[in-house]
Amino acid sequence: MEFSILVDSFYKMELTRKRLELTQFLVELFEQTPHETISKIVYLIQGKLRPDFEGVELGVAEKLAIRSISKSAGIPIKRIEDEYVKGGDLGHVASIILEEKTQTTFLVEDITVERVYETLFKIARLRGSHSQDMKMKYISSLLNDATPLEASYILKILLGTLRLGIAENTVIDALAIAFSGNKDNRKILQYAYNVSSDLGKVAETVATNGIEGVKKFEMTLFNPIRPMLADRIKSEREAIEKMGNQFAAEYKLDGERVQLHIKGERVVLFSRSLENISIYYPDIIEKIPKVIQADNIILEAEIVAINENTGEFLPFQELMHRRRKYKIEKAVTQYPITVNFFDILYCNGKSCLELNYKDRREKLEKNVKEDDFIKYIPMTVVKNENEIEDFMENSINAGSEGLMLKMLDKPYQAGSRGSHWLKLKREYQNELGDSLDLVVIGGFFGKGRRTGSYGTLLLATYDEDEDIFTSICKVGTGFSDEDLDQLYQILNPKVTIKKNPRINSEMEADVWFEPELVIEVVASEITLSPIHKAAMDKIRKNTGLALRFPKFTGKIRFEKVAEDASTNKEIITLYKGQKKVAHDKNLM
Ligand code: AMP
Repeated sequence: MEFSILVDSFYKMELTRKRLELTQFLVELFEQTPHETISKIVYLIQGKLRPDFEGVELGVAEKLAIRSISKSAGIPIKRIEDEYVKGGDLGHVASIILEEKTQTTFLVEDITVERVYETLFKIARLRGSHSQDMKMKYISSLLNDATPLEASYILKILLGTLRLGIAENTVIDALAIAFSGNKDNRKILQYAYNVSSDLGKVAETVATNGIEGVKKFEMTLFNPIRPMLADRIKSEREAIEKMGNQFAAEYKLDGERVQLHIKGERVVLFSRSLENISIYYPDIIEKIPKVIQADNIILEAEIVAINENTGEFLPFQELMHRRRKYKIEKAVTQYPITVNFFDILYCNGKSCLELNYKDRREKLEKNVKEDDFIKYIPMTVVKNENEIEDFMENSINAGSEGLMLKMLDKPYQAGSRGSHWLKLKREYQNELGDSLDLVVIGGFFGKGRRTGSYGTLLLATYDEDEDIFTSICKVGTGFSDEDLDQLYQILNPKVTIKKNPRINSEMEADVWFEPELVIEVVASEITLSPIHKAAMDKIRKNTGLALRFPKFTGKIRFEKVAEDASTNKEIITLYKGQKKVAHDKNLM
């Protein structure tokens, strides 16, 4: 398939934000795509090469891209950097520069989607000392044969700056229309996606075998399932109102959620965002097969750091010491854990998702044996507010965060947040109501004791409508020296030459970062702000929202990607809630 067909679609899609138009462009594109190429197209549309859980990352930095453009166009690096700083993204810069070149040379060969994809895949696979040079060679070879417009999109994909604003839902709608002529079939496709987390695979199945083929789609081991999520509630009373008079209450442990896929000795661990995190937990990989009674199984658990002497649960930060690639054996002995199981999704070749909560819990207990390391999450059935309060007390005393409340007669709803699971934290640790997860977008160099680190960070919320990150506050308190060191190590490689176009902020940060890292903060209040961009114009014209007295809680949310951060919609709800409390207080 000619790459120019894909590029023409990209170009049209970039010009609209309307979901219906995007869907239509996608349908037209899918109809022109050979079946064996459709999965590649679906990944590329999302700026990926493979589903996230396979961890195939392009990892091309701006500097390398600039060198490649320079090599391909025979133009000095400095000139490209100057153009880049002037405006636009590197894709745009490449197209301008190559435009000049194409006027003097002939194109060598048409490039195809397959060739671009294979080359990008090779680039992603390269490791080791000469990998930078090899990457540059591959990129330049593509740029040499590409038209200026094609080159600009190749660079956008390479740098991860292709932003078509196409949500997974839109791809699913378009697949349903293109291959079954009926948008209602999206439900069948959505289910297949929820149990496979692989939209490319779903696309290939529907293109090749039609909607009937997708109906036969089965979950498979070592292919993660999109997790079920919980709604947040604020009181025991609200739980009773929403869940009726009998439901399960489990401890809400403060650790890392993990999905375990096990067949004999083979074990793979996936995080909440479906990243393969097996390397951080060699102790689980070693011990888990011994306690499993089934031939194959998919389970969910919360990994928690513990105090080995007392067995008490320790806060999440302790567990994060495990997030290191080197000397992991040392971390394993230094930071002991337990694995606390709460669900079973698959057992002996069959899905368990359709079973209700009660049956799943029973099956879990039948197929996993408890010991010092492997536990079931403490659970009880509750009937009224008092019972919830009592169990909450036990949970907090054991060192956990609160409770998860789950309906007894409901199945596991992969990939959805809903009212069948609710989360209730004991008390609101700050006046705002709850902590916020924010994306680190900029940094300010520290002074005095903090020299050599970022003493203050600029944080952002996620704007779901625009798919961008909007600044909401600067935070400089709550950091221990160790936190500052760790944050510096993590953030330094994320520094960019100029602000990522997805960042919306008027602040003048010393450095800008790729918007990737999520940290947790608490604050005293949300206020109107003339400077910050969160929820701009939503409450008042030309005014955004900002956090007052923000403080880092010590939690780096490694398990979250930037798009999982608190959204502007949530901030607006919190802002309105806070106004209502103030109003109610005034009336009393
Ligand atoms: P939050 O991150 O605040 O949205 O809370 C949801 C998270 O709570 C999940 O992703 C799990 O990591 C964690 N969790 C702790 N205990 C449980 C439990 N008993 N059931 C489900 N999730 C739990």
